[in-house]
Amino acid sequence: MTTKVKKKSVSSRRKKGQILPLLALKDLVLFPNMVVPLLVGREKSIKAIETAVFSNSNLLLAAQKSADNDNPGRDDIHRVGTEGKILQILKMPDGSAKIMVEGLRRLKISSYEDETSYFSVRVVEFTKPCPAKVEIKAMMRTVRELFEAYVSLNPRIPTEIAPSILEEEDPERLADNVCAHLLVKIPERQELLEIARPDKRLLRLIALLDAENEILRIEKKISSRVRKQIEKSQKTYYLHEQLKAIEKELGKEDFTSTEIKELEEKILDAKMPSEVEGKALAELEKYSRIPTTSPEAAVYRNYIDWLIDLPWKKVTRDNLNIQHAENVLNSNHFGLKEPKERIIEYLAVRKLSRKLKGPILCLVGPPGVGKTSLAKSMAEALGRKFVKFSLGGVRDEAEIRGHRRTYVGAMPGRIIQSLCRAGTRNPVFLLDEIDKISVDFRGDPSSALLETLDPEQNIAFSDHYIEVDFDLSQVMFIATANIPHTIHPTLLDRMEIIRLPGYTEWEKLEIAQRFLVPKQLKENGLTGYNITFPKNTLLKIIREYTREAGLRNLERDLSRICRKLAREILSSGKKSTEVKVADLKRHLGPPRHRHEMAGEEKAVGVSTGMAWTEVGGEILKIETLLMDGKGQLILTGKLGDVMQESARAALSYIRSNRKRFKLTENFHRNKDIHVHVPMGHVPKDGPSAGVAIVVSILSALTGKAIPGDIALTGEITLRGKILPVGGLKEKALAAHRSGIKTVIIPKENEKDLTEIPGNIKKKIKFIAVERVDEILQLVFAK
Ligand code: ADP
Repeated sequence: MTTKVKKKSVSSRRKKGQILPLLALKDLVLFPNMVVPLLVGREKSIKAIETAVFSNSNLLLAAQKSADNDNPGRDDIHRVGTEGKILQILKMPDGSAKIMVEGLRRLKISSYEDETSYFSVRVVEFTKPCPAKVEIKAMMRTVRELFEAYVSLNPRIPTEIAPSILEEEDPERLADNVCAHLLVKIPERQELLEIARPDKRLLRLIALLDAENEILRIEKKISSRVRKQIEKSQKTYYLHEQLKAIEKELGKEDFTSTEIKELEEKILDAKMPSEVEGKALAELEKYSRIPTTSPEAAVYRNYIDWLIDLPWKKVTRDNLNIQHAENVLNSNHFGLKEPKERIIEYLAVRKLSRKLKGPILCLVGPPGVGKTSLAKSMAEALGRKFVKFSLGGVRDEAEIRGHRRTYVGAMPGRIIQSLCRAGTRNPVFLLDEIDKISVDFRGDPSSALLETLDPEQNIAFSDHYIEVDFDLSQVMFIATANIPHTIHPTLLDRMEIIRLPGYTEWEKLEIAQRFLVPKQLKENGLTGYNITFPKNTLLKIIREYTREAGLRNLERDLSRICRKLAREILSSGKKSTEVKVADLKRHLGPPRHRHEMAGEEKAVGVSTGMAWTEVGGEILKIETLLMDGKGQLILTGKLGDVMQESARAALSYIRSNRKRFKLTENFHRNKDIHVHVPMGHVPKDGPSAGVAIVVSILSALTGKAIPGDIALTGEITLRGKILPVGGLKEKALAAHRSGIKTVIIPKENEKDLTEIPGNIKKKIKFIAVERVDEILQLVFAK
């Protein structure tokens, strides 16, 4: 075999280059100076190694173009390779061998000489000399720097190899050493191998290293970010666990879970109907799933709280002892005989029927007559809780029924709110000022109220916010109003009216002495002192400081005096005092109302009418003036439609009876008639002034004077018949306050005289009439 090689080498001497056995490398490109271990198994490869060992020659190691090819032909092997020296060989039992080779120099296959048992190739030198340029140094430096960075960035390259490589002074060797350690793919390595000039190789290396370093840096960045994220989530988890451990150590449980547990207990304790309880628990479940800091959490929490607060099962037991109720009413209220009786009857019926169905009581009367306090006393008598909802100015249905939860800041309506406040589901519920509800575009509150009051419907009252039905059938509703005719008719239909018309001077005096003075003394901390309000002082306050049907202003003035007394007592140290008439100016200022007793003057064209207004009965002066003109009827003084019509009817009546009243034929053509009702601040309406207007106009037309102490009430037909009016008691009280001596009333109202207190009847003469003629005789006869 040796000879053969020799022969070959001899025979080819003329040809250029040397012949070497070829070892095809599957996935490796060997560079000069590189020492690598190889495992050789293919038959051709073993043969090539054996030949080299036998002939003591080197090998050519060239890479296959494709690693998958197990039997590559000459075209499947790269033509540039590296001469390798076998340093060690270890034969394995299975015929394969492990060798250690050292790369020596680049060689190029110029031809294949033999390929029968192994490839034998003719090779030529491939390396080109390096031009001695300064740039080479610069390139070498750059390569060194880049490689240093490369090693530090690439964890797969052991950092110890770096110094030996970097110390290399020869550009060719430096380039190859770096190439050897560069972890790039086979084609790129082969490309590097095939660059014959060292300076070009260095240049290529710089580009490769730079790109690789960039990629490595990005990789590093990504991996550190990922690591950070993982670290952060691990950290929060860890901190949370620590916090839990600390709280446990301190004996606290997780805050939110205790809150949820508490709410759950409250829901179960509230004894809601089962479907409501289900809903509340479902809402709680949603609540527990969102963070407490989110705005939605507050919405859920609020809703759950409302459900818990509603008195689903809480009730008070009714005290149906009628005697007890009577005692309570009497001890809290003076007089009011009729309303008290009606209330007692009402309670008695409830007691017997044990049902709350039936009309709702509506207490009607001017402010301060004790409507609210009567309702409170009813609650006290029955042992029920008391709540009040003032309907004055309510114009939005949502105030009664609430807003849907989707609204920002939504809340239940006032019915549900009041029940929560009462804390029981059977309170006495006062619907104050039911005559003051208004209707506008936001829906009709009265229809919502109607549903609330209707015993057929209020078993399942639905509030927009609460969403679940609530049973209102145990609630005792009581309404109040100032005047009945502005109450919505369908509401009025469901109610039983109890009138509290107002008090006489004498009644006010009694109430002041028995109730208001002691109450105010107590409220102002004066019970321990001997303070007296003599009768004439109280009467002066009633007459000249407060002119009203109820007791509001009287009570307010008494409270004012008590406050001033408290101050005086503190500064002077006096133990007892009497509030004299002369002191009133100091305490309350000058009298607000002249105590002008009507009746002193007789006047032409001025009659005294009577009205029933929100503040009780009122007397009104009706003035008529005649002026030269074209027969116009001028009406002033805030008269409502009804009163304006009354004036027209009155004039027509007079014109049609011109002869009887001895009026000139054209009185209505050449005179303007101006009817005025002073006291501009009081809106006046209602069909009760017709008679007074007729009398006033006639007086002006005939020049006959009307006595000032006669007051008139009644409406007229065009034929002079007198129609009945409402509110006679209120009007009588007002007439009494103003010192009227005679009151002319429609015949049909005669029956109402029984309601009028005896002491008023003693002072005022009531004359019932049927036709206008009778009035004229009475008024103008004097
Ligand atoms: P309203 O609700 O009709 O406006 P309130 O009930 O508020 O009137 O009554 C005003 C004040 O007058 C309260 O202090 C009340 O106690 C008192 N009051 C009214 N009527 C009477 C009465 N008949 N007896 C005793 N006090 C009364």
